[in-house]
Amino acid sequence: MSATTIHARNALLPGGWAQDVRFVLEGETIAAITPSVKPEAEDHRVDHLLPGMSNHHSHAFQRAMAGLAETRGSGTDTFWTWRDVMYRFALSMDPDQMEAVATHLYMEMMEAGFCHVGEFHYLHHDRAGRPYANIGELCDRIAAAAGATGMDVTLLPSFYAHSTFAGAAPVEGQRRFINDVDGFARIVERCRELARIMPGVSVGVAPHSLRAVTPDELSAVVDMAGDAPIHIHVAEQVKEVEDCLQWSGKRPVQWLLDNAPVNDRWCLIHATHLTPEELDAIVLSKATVGLCPVTEGNLGDGISRCKGLFEQGGAFGIGTDSNVLIDVGQELRQLEYSQRLAHGNRAVLAGQGASTGRELFEAARAGGGAALGSSTDLVAGGLASFVVFKNEDAPWLTQDRLIDGWIFGGAFRPDAVWARGRQVVEDGRHVARPDIAARFRTTMQDLMNETGLA
Ligand SMILES: [Zn+2]
Repeated sequence: MSATTIHARNALLPGGWAQDVRFVLEGETIAAITPSVKPEAEDHRVDHLLPGMSNHHSHAFQRAMAGLAETRGSGTDTFWTWRDVMYRFALSMDPDQMEAVATHLYMEMMEAGFCHVGEFHYLHHDRAGRPYANIGELCDRIAAAAGATGMDVTLLPSFYAHSTFAGAAPVEGQRRFINDVDGFARIVERCRELARIMPGVSVGVAPHSLRAVTPDELSAVVDMAGDAPIHIHVAEQVKEVEDCLQWSGKRPVQWLLDNAPVNDRWCLIHATHLTPEELDAIVLSKATVGLCPVTEGNLGDGISRCKGLFEQGGAFGIGTDSNVLIDVGQELRQLEYSQRLAHGNRAVLAGQGASTGRELFEAARAGGGAALGSSTDLVAGGLASFVVFKNEDAPWLTQDRLIDGWIFGGAFRPDAVWARGRQVVEDGRHVARPDIAARFRTTMQDLMNETGLA
């Protein structure tokens, strides 16, 4: 196997920025990293080389409705009215359409600098709510979409059985999501088969939320995880907190920490509405808080307690969730700005004297890696997946200032992205973009007609 060599003027390694760094790639991995060396004739030369970002939370099919749920409804528009539009898409999509939308989405994620996504996948059955012949059909389609773009994916099949607390029966609009424990176990098994045969695919489990599972079902699903990641939506909405209090006398995070073996394999998606005591208990549990700043803003969920989390050394990552917008810099900017607005000061998520962009980038990357059970660190023996910036228009922005310029200036995006030793983004565009985009446009035209939104 011939090696590919890359020489970077600046590279962000686990120990910090290094200059004149030579990378030797062999197959999917980095064979060697040597700082402070001159480029050699055969080297592919780049300016700024950074590790990729992990995106711990995505619902791929929701990308189809970006921009289609922004018309104000009657009365006060809320998460719950948005969810009605989401159900129209969820109920319309067939497997080919799902794969076309997910492939386009993962392509956009790679162009943005993400290289690993956690797909919290709850759309399981056909449009009538019947299992496909292959019960994991739509997981196959997600894995195929990731494979077609170079994206690493952690499949997080979601267990969903009830419309609200106390085991309430699901509603008609949820028919494609619903499984019993045995059916769900077969979906998890299918995902594990996919992980065995497809590079870049791994598997965790995702009890959807405390309102969608009973305590017995939660513990059965957690038992299926083994050493794999466990993700759950929790405390996203005030109404959810109120309903949980009514059901159990406890708030959702409080109930979860009292009744489930929450540890560093867990990712608590959103965890927006927390008491100070709940925040302390999350930090103690070592779970990652799965923030989704742009979606939380779009849905009006509320402002996270990220300042307290950061100050106590708690883990957090970023997820694109509803996929209304795909941009690493925008997620991190929204997160920091929400904290500035809430607390009335600047550089909230940074230590004294540190670059906010750099600290945010590294914290979110570490938290995302923990949530997905993998690291995107640039190390010998690690995956050859990384992001390259050219930044010709602002050459004074280097190293930490490059990251600050990316996040807060928003004027540039990654020039190139490599995934498992292969360059998949060149000049800011995915190499397969023309075909993927054409298929997506046709699919969207059909979906617009089928949902009555055309
Ligand atoms: Zn979600």
